[in-house]
Amino acid sequence: MRIIQSVHAFQRWRRKQANEKGLIGFVPTMGAFHAGHQSLMKRARRSTQTVVVSIFVNPLQFAPTEDLDQYPRPREADLALCRKMGVDVVVLPSQKEWYPADFQTSVVVSQLSKQWEGAKRRTHFQGVTTVVEKLLNLVKPHQAFFGQKDYQQCRIIQQMVEDLNQDIKIVMCPTIRESDGLAMSSRNTYLSQAKRQQALVLYQALSAGKKAIKDGEQSVPKIEKIMHRSLKNHSGITVDYLAVCHSETLEPLKKAQGKLVLLGAVRIGSVRLIDNLTVKASASPIKSS
Ligand code: AMP
Repeated sequence: MRIIQSVHAFQRWRRKQANEKGLIGFVPTMGAFHAGHQSLMKRARRSTQTVVVSIFVNPLQFAPTEDLDQYPRPREADLALCRKMGVDVVVLPSQKEWYPADFQTSVVVSQLSKQWEGAKRRTHFQGVTTVVEKLLNLVKPHQAFFGQKDYQQCRIIQQMVEDLNQDIKIVMCPTIRESDGLAMSSRNTYLSQAKRQQALVLYQALSAGKKAIKDGEQSVPKIEKIMHRSLKNHSGITVDYLAVCHSETLEPLKKAQGKLVLLGAVRIGSVRLIDNLTVKASASPIKSS
């Protein structure tokens, strides 16, 4: 496995790949790997011939009040996992080279970035799209792999690649969960044991919403009420949003029909968690009495 830290060295490696047969798969990450990241690498390994992983804690996507300094950076363990997963190249850019003092370009996906996470974290998606576009331009992969865990992020990147005519297949890979259902996240390490237990209610709320839709409920206010009810008896949890949305535009729906996604975000103390479930609404709605 090669570890490449400079942009020029990576570009040299990439030029040589032009003569090689096969597809290049890319998994962009911020490190602190868990089974979610591992599943993306596995999928990339299965679908493409050369697998590139980047590890870069991107300051542009953190607000000044957020956890940039605290974000875990277990570099040796991360590299060991990449080796185990058969990754070919790890890109480890330095902050100084990636964002020099005169850096001044940004990429904005205007509509999809406005709602949900974008409304709560104003500069977050601009930071994400800027770093991902810069990485895609460097790596020039045929396919890039993202987790459904960050559903809105993945939709934004799909839109960006389409808008900018980039010939890259964006693959959304399923969310990997703990055995009790909690979505794996590098930020779960911030949770105390008690909060770790509480964190599960987000998945339970989304699951209750999904079940109601599968049982034929189409009224969005009723579905939202069901999701909120799951959280009622848990003190110390603040809901940022629990929403029934169109699976592509992410617009809130009035009626739960067709392919949709339930998006949720809660705060437990200072820890913020997001999760989502996709649902295909039942064709036969509940008859209102
Ligand atoms: P991050 O390192 O948090 O920026 O995440 C890197 C990639 O891993 C993103 O595409 C995430 O959506 C994906 N990811 C994070 N958590 C999970 C999970 N539990 N299951 C699947 N993919 C995940």
